[in-house]
Amino acid sequence: MDILAFLRERAGAFRCPRCKRSLADCKLTQLDHAGQKYTVEVTCRSCELAFLVALEVASNDEAETDAEEHGLETAASAEPEADPISNDELLELHQVLSGHSGPLTALLKERAND
Ligand SMILES: [Zn+2]
Repeated sequence: MDILAFLRERAGAFRCPRCKRSLADCKLTQLDHAGQKYTVEVTCRSCELAFLVALEVASNDEAETDAEEHGLETAASAEPEADPISNDELLELHQVLSGHSGPLTALLKERAND
């Protein structure tokens, strides 16, 4: 799958944990790809905060779609400090860079509250 397109589609739903601006036009750089695991660097265009997103994608297309929603719900209910945020079907998101307390979790919470 095109992991960058996957993230790009969803980036607009999230806000930068530092400057709170939309990540719709964030810079996405795929750093690593091993099997179903992808590591992508997300860089805010406004304040240039960079953080890493690690995703593990289910091989089954149907499971992928189902788990996508489920993964977000799971993450939204997790503690901000929880690391990693995991979903056994699809997503494993976690912040790798230090200095910010669970920004991805905060972002996912915003998304879940829409
Ligand atoms: Zn920012």
